[in-house]
Amino acid sequence: MVSPLAIQVLQNELPLEQENLLLSGEVMTGLVLVDIVNGFCTVGSVLSVIAPQAPDAQIAGMVDESVRLARGFCEKRWPIYAFLNTHHPDVPEPPYPPHCIAGTDESKLVPSLQWLENEPNVTLRCKDCIDGFIGSLEKDGTNAFVDWVKTNGIKAILVVGICTDICVLDFVCSALSARNRELISPLEDVVVYSRGCATFDLPVDVASNMKGALVHPQDLMHHVGLYMAKGRGAKVVLEVVFGI
Ligand SMILES: [Zn+2]
Repeated sequence: MVSPLAIQVLQNELPLEQENLLLSGEVMTGLVLVDIVNGFCTVGSVLSVIAPQAPDAQIAGMVDESVRLARGFCEKRWPIYAFLNTHHPDVPEPPYPPHCIAGTDESKLVPSLQWLENEPNVTLRCKDCIDGFIGSLEKDGTNAFVDWVKTNGIKAILVVGICTDICVLDFVCSALSARNRELISPLEDVVVYSRGCATFDLPVDVASNMKGALVHPQDLMHHVGLYMAKGRGAKVVLEVVFGI
């Protein structure tokens, strides 16, 4: 556990101003769920180093907020694009140990989101890499995420999921670069919902006993991930409310 003082120092040195987001329907907004799968979120998933070994408040809060947003989007039939981290057992993903193997529960949406599999406004996308933008590339060079934005006339994406500083951040950075190069029309805004994101916890006292493990204190890395997303041009929001 990182000391509250360390978090306070980080927040003082890297202050993160957050906005609020009102979803009124005036700006066509798509919800992007990043890897809210058992292998990263469900207590006791065996293979993954990211899944919590005990109930984790940040991850549980992220799942709850993602479910709330997914219900709101589905009620309004607004588009949702859900990444599922899914790996072939013979294809490793360095630097990570094996996780979310195809065909196992680890690569499935968490139980509270599995109903999304049957919703007509939801596009599921298995990805076998960290960055979902790259993971949306098809063999013919088209990009399923870019096509989803275009087909639905999406002007803003609201991004939630796990991990704030890894898959969420990499996807957000790629989406912003692609937007800046005018590769994702008509996308204008990339919004990251801080309470809808989470990361895993590998504090220094635990990591020091694991060969080759990189220290990853949860609260600090969550903050750094949000800060870097904002630095690249994303909007970071603390509250998301449905307008009507
Ligand atoms: Zn993976």
